Formats: sequence, C-alpha cells, structure tokens
Amino acid sequence: MNNTQNLSEEIRIKVLEKLQSSVEPRQYETWLKKLEFVESDSGELKIPLPNIFYVEWYKKSFLPLIETAVCQVTGKEHKIIFVAPPEQGRLFPDNIVADKKPSFKQSIVTSNSGQRSQPEERASLLDFALSENFIFEKFVVGTSNRLAHAAALAVAENPGQAYNPLFIHGGVGLGKTHLLQAIAHRIINKFVNYSIYYRSGEEFVNDYITAVKNNAFELFRKQCRSEDVMIIDDIHFLGRGEKAASREEFFHTFNALHNARKQIILSSDSPPKDMPLLQDRLVSRFNWGMVARLDTPDYEMRVAILRQKSENYKITIPDNVVSFIASNVDTNIRDLEGSLIRLIGLARSSNQNPSVALATESLKDIINFTPHQIKISDIMDVIAGYFNVSSLDLQSKVRIKSVSLARQIALYLARQLKPEMSLEEIGLSFGGREHSTVLHSIEKIRKRAQKDSKFRDTLNTMLTEIRRKNV
Ligand code: ADP
Ligand code: MG
Repeated sequence: MNNTQNLSEEIRIKVLEKLQSSVEPRQYETWLKKLEFVESDSGELKIPLPNIFYVEWYKKSFLPLIETAVCQVTGKEHKIIFVAPPEQGRLFPDNIVADKKPSFKQSIVTSNSGQRSQPEERASLLDFALSENFIFEKFVVGTSNRLAHAAALAVAENPGQAYNPLFIHGGVGLGKTHLLQAIAHRIINKFVNYSIYYRSGEEFVNDYITAVKNNAFELFRKQCRSEDVMIIDDIHFLGRGEKAASREEFFHTFNALHNARKQIILSSDSPPKDMPLLQDRLVSRFNWGMVARLDTPDYEMRVAILRQKSENYKITIPDNVVSFIASNVDTNIRDLEGSLIRLIGLARSSNQNPSVALATESLKDIINFTPHQIKISDIMDVIAGYFNVSSLDLQSKVRIKSVSLARQIALYLARQLKPEMSLEEIGLSFGGREHSTVLHSIEKIRKRAQKDSKFRDTLNTMLTEIRRKNV
C-alpha cells in the first residue's frame, strides 16, 4: 500500500483560493471550502467525500476545475480520485463508482516540441474532456430548452448541414455544457472519422498563447483549421476585455471553418448582441445559423428533472418532497441537482428516508434557504386580485366560470407551494372541499399548463408574486 500524507496546508490553501476564484461564492462555500487532499506516493491525490453519492457529483461538477487548480499550484500532474467510505449493500448503478481513468487535459499543441499530438492522444484527450453524463439521453427537454435541444440534435445528426454556426446561450447551470458535450458524443459515435476541436473559450486562449510562445503558431493554426467540427464552450471569455489577438485568431479560424462548411458550435452566458466585440465580426454568419436560448426551467420541468435524476440514482423520492424542492429551488438545474444530491447524501448518512424535513436541511446548504412561510391566504389574495374576485368567492361554491377557474388555479398553486399539506387539508382551507374535487381541479390546470405556454407563463407570474409576499 502506498504511504499517504495530507497535501501541505500551504498548497491546500492555494488550491482552494484558485477554486474560490473560479466558482460562485455560494458554490465554493457549499462544495469546495472543506475539501481535503491526501497525496499518495504514486502522485495520486485522493479527496475524501462523505458518501458515494457525492463522488459522482464531484466528478461531474468539479473534476476538471480541481485538476486545473492543483496543476497550476503544484506545477505537477496529479490523478485526482474522489473516495467515499465503503457502503454496505450496493444500491446504486455501477456508473456512479466506475472510475474512468482521468488524465490531464493537455494542450493540443504540446508545450515543448510544438508537435501536433498523435491521433491516439487526441482521442483520449476528447474522452477525458467529455463527461459520460452529458449525453442527449440524459437531457430532460421542456419549455425552457426545447429549441436549443432540437437545434443541438439537428446539428449532431447532420454536422455542417443544419444550422451553422449554432450559438447556445443562457445563464449558469442551465445546460450549455451538457448540450455541447451531447453533440460531441453523438458526432463521435455517428461519424467516427470526424475530428472535433472541443475547448472552452479560456482553453482556446491558452492554446493560442502556448502556441505563440513555442513558435508553434502555424501548427496551431493548421490544426484548428483541419478539424471537422469546432465546439467552443463559454465563448464569452473571448468576447470581453483584452485578448484581442486570440480573438482575432478565433475569427480567422471561424471564417476558415465556416467557409469550408465545417460545423461550428458556440455557447455563451449572454446573447451575441451583448458581446459587441464578437457580434460585430460574426453577425453576417449568424444569419446563416441559429441562436438558441436556454431559460430557467419552470416548475413542471423542475419536477421532471428531479424525477429523472432520482431515477439515475435509483432512489425513490416521495412526490411531496419532489414538489417541495421544485418549488423552492428555481435558480438553475445545477442547484436543483445539487439539492437532490445533498438530500440523498443526508438521507443516507442519517439512515432516514428522504422527507420534506430532510430536504429543508439540505436546501439550507444550497440556496441559503429559509422555508417560505407561504400562507393559503397569500395564495388566495394574489389569485383573487388577478381575477378580480374576492377570497371568499374562492372558498364558496359559486360556479361562475371566472370564479371556478380562479379557484382551480388557487388549488393548483396551493398544492405546489404547500407540499406539506395533504389534499384533504388543502380542500378544508378552501371551504371544505372534497379531496377528489381538489385533485380534479389540480389535474385540470396541470393539463392545460402542459399544452398552453401562455397559460404556463401566467401561472409562473402568479407563483412569483405569491413568493414575493414572503420575502
Ligand atoms: P452550464 O454549462 O450552462 O453552466 P451545465 O451544462 O454544466 O450548465 O449543467 C449544469 C448541471 O445541470 C449538469 O449537471 C447538467 O447535467 C444538468 N442539466 C442541465 N440541463 C439539464 C437537462 N435539461 N436535463 C438534465 N440535466 C441537466
Ligand atoms: Mg458550462
């Protein structure tokens, strides 16, 4: 067995500082601040985690980040391994623990010789850069991402033919990287001979700088232009501030590839119009392509995502807990997933079943959560205001159409916002309605929301307004 030692405190602190500067403060506080690193003789760095659920999550969310930080601080390549105490009785799918051999991302232009990497090396580079989780099959499609998903799929099935370039934009944690990698996976499987240049905006800049430094610029240029597909994630890195030279190089590469009808896919945190430094040069090309936006997921989609993710983990989360998380975590999909992992982890380590109480605990870590003290009367007030009826109407048996609709919506929203209440309890607070009547109303609204996007928007606006009463 290898001897192990904790990474010296000084190095650990520096690594943590790097990590802190690359993620949002909240993320750092929740996931990274307390990391420990144990170094083995063979140069592996082990990072202990509380249980097996965290392993997959960290691999997916933080592995490249941690590797880069460690490499920058120590100047050495370390294999990073997340470890969790052995679990009794495997409840989980194999891929959660399967440890694909991670290797360090190398620049495509090797730093000392300036030679282009050999094909085998390139294959492994791509393997590593892609997460096995970021595939189309694991991408939940809903109103907030339908267009981007359809465009991504079209491009992956017919690179260079469908939309070129494809530009996907949206805030953090909404699925940009997931979609870009899904495209790469699909192309690799379907067009085995295709070569793909897959980098982040930051990596592109680094590749460029390294190439210039090593007098390997022509090679770099040649290689970029010989690819069949170019995918650049987080292009906004290139679209702002200094970096004029790399930006210029990007334009040339872009134009060369585009003229050769090679597929180009870009992602960014903002739409092209908010990045004039890029937009002005690329605008005529965008006319030939597609700009698709990822929005924050609405309630129904948040539920679908939580369901799918808990299925991946082979864990059943009760419906009221799913609604509870879905109605409280409305920032982005990463937070949603983080909340779920935190809940599962907490349930495992305390040997309890996932419940609203446990979820409340786990949400505190993720979103500085304080439970919404939403009252049924708040819901009634907002809905009554919308429909110009009174709160008493909502509790009455009045059957005028507008009152009925208002009442059904209020019941539907009560179900979402008060997951701790049973249908009976909700019925009671609405003038003593039967459980079955409540259920019928909720279903009616749910079905309409599924079909009618305007209606869905209205429901979301109402939800937001009800929440606002409680902050
Ligand atoms: P971004 O690059 O926009 O910041 P990511 O692509 O890294 O966001 O997504 C954040 C997390 O949310 C990832 O774990 C990803 O798998 C998950 N995710 C995002 N969109 C979806 C979706 N539509 N279905 C399932 N998981 C998603
Ligand atoms: Mg991303």
